[in-house]
Formats: sequence, structure tokens, C-alpha cells
Amino acid sequence: MQKELNALASDLAAYIKRLDEDTYISPLDGMPQPSGRRPQAAEVDAEGIMKTPLRTAALKVVKSAGKAARESGDAKAGMAALAEEIKKCRKCQLGNSRLNAVVGVGDPNAKVVFVGEGPGFQEDHKGEPFVGRSGSLLDKILDTVLGLKRSDVYIANIVKCHPMSNPENPEAHGNDRPPTIEEISACRPYLDRQLMLIKPKCVVTLGSVATKVLLGVTQGISFVRGKWYDYPVELFGPGHPIKVLPTYHPAALLRNSNLKRDTWEDMKMLKAFLEKN
Ligand code: SF4
Ligand code: URA
Repeated sequence: MQKELNALASDLAAYIKRLDEDTYISPLDGMPQPSGRRPQAAEVDAEGIMKTPLRTAALKVVKSAGKAARESGDAKAGMAALAEEIKKCRKCQLGNSRLNAVVGVGDPNAKVVFVGEGPGFQEDHKGEPFVGRSGSLLDKILDTVLGLKRSDVYIANIVKCHPMSNPENPEAHGNDRPPTIEEISACRPYLDRQLMLIKPKCVVTLGSVATKVLLGVTQGISFVRGKWYDYPVELFGPGHPIKVLPTYHPAALLRNSNLKRDTWEDMKMLKAFLEKN
């Protein structure tokens, strides 16, 4: 078992290095563009990653060692190590202005991972995702529809550091902006690594940014929400898909309470799925 775990660790390290090196983005219509060259569609190489021998080897070991590793608490240890790495990260400019990196919160063995866009003011100050008004609403949805607490699920974001309109002033309120494609591309491998550690049955994308990034869809959130999709990269190999359910971002519900009904329907779909899986 020790041998298998060592092989897993080195295969994963190599695979992750490869992921890091890939420009890994999805079409993000209407998002602010960083200056400089925009990566082209041909560079989105999820299929290529799937076909590399390295990836196949890594997956074989992940599959055989995954269950044991999970049961022995390795997801927790792996997540703690990853958190240390993220806290030191400066792979994009957000690393220079953040107060705290916001890695994620919850159960590293959760069946479901909720993915938001990126930390805001409150999250940057506290180092925890969804602790502002959106977060209270998310907690309420988890509790009332699913009967779950945030410690029963895992909650993370597409980017781990607070995207600010004015990076000089992290103490200013209303200093939020969506992450750029460059920032998303730099941070994205961390989310895949989190998913590989957690091995969830499903992911709920909160809002259009998380949905576009994870599914590569171009349609609006109101069109794609409330349906199950397969996570486009088979992190655990063929036949072991992670299901993805897009829904509205809680901040959208705060702006327009008419969206609550659809969100409740989506969460009922999630509840039914979790009861079966
Ligand atoms: Fe690193 Fe992600 Fe923070 Fe950028 S947003 S510095 S890639 S952790
Ligand atoms: N909005 C997000 O998308 N993520 C957070 O962590 C907080 C607000």
C-alpha cells in the first residue's frame, strides 16, 4: 500500500505540474479581459490531458489507492498541504493584494462541492468562503432544503484570492470585480486538485462564472441551470464522472428574489441525487 501511495504521489505531482503548465480556460463571454494576449480555444487541452500516458498511469493508481486513502484521512492531510501551498501562491496578481487566501471550507470527504466565483471583502478578511450576505443565504439554503450545514459539504471558489477593482485598498467596501481569464487560468489547477482529493459525487456551480469555467458553456445561467452535466475532465477516469448541477449564485437571489423558486427546485434535485448516491 505504501508503494502504491508513493507512486500515486509522484504521478499526481507530475500530472499536476502538467495541469499547471496548461492554459486551462473556458469561453467567458462578457468577462473583463486582462491586457495582453488572450489564450485561443486550441489551447484548451482537456482532451489532450486525458490521453497522455502520464494521466492514464496516474488515474490507475488513483483508482486503486483512492478508497483506502480516503478512509485513512488522506483527503484531510492532502487538503491541509494544498492549503499551505495556496496561502503562499503568487501565480497571479491577486496574490499581491489579498489579505487572506480563501482555500475552501467543509468536509474534505464531502459528496458535494459548491463552487462560487471568488472571495469578496468579508471572505478576504476572514479567509473563509461565503461568509458575507451571500454566505448567510447559502447556509440557509443548505439548512432548509438539504438539512445540511457547511461542515457537511465542501465550499470553494474558482479563484482563491479577492479580485479587487482597486488592489491598493483591500479595506474599501464595494471594491469587487469578477476574476479575469488570466487569474482564472492561473488558479484553476487548485480547484481540480481539491476535487481530486475530495472525490465528490457532484459539484454545484453557483452562478454564471463558475458554470462557464467548469462546463465551458456559453449560454446564460438561466438556460443551463437545473440540469445535470458531466464534469468535462474525467478526473477519476472513464465511468467515474463527477456530475455538475449549475444553479444561481446566492448574490443573484439577493438582487432578485424571483430566482429563489428555481433555486429551490435545483436544490431539491441535488437532495434527490445525494439520497441515491
Ligand atoms: Fe494563486 Fe489563485 Fe491567489 Fe492567483 S488567485 S495568487 S493563482 S491562489
Ligand atoms: N461570492 C463568491 O462567489 N464566493 C465567495 O466566497 C463569496 C461571495
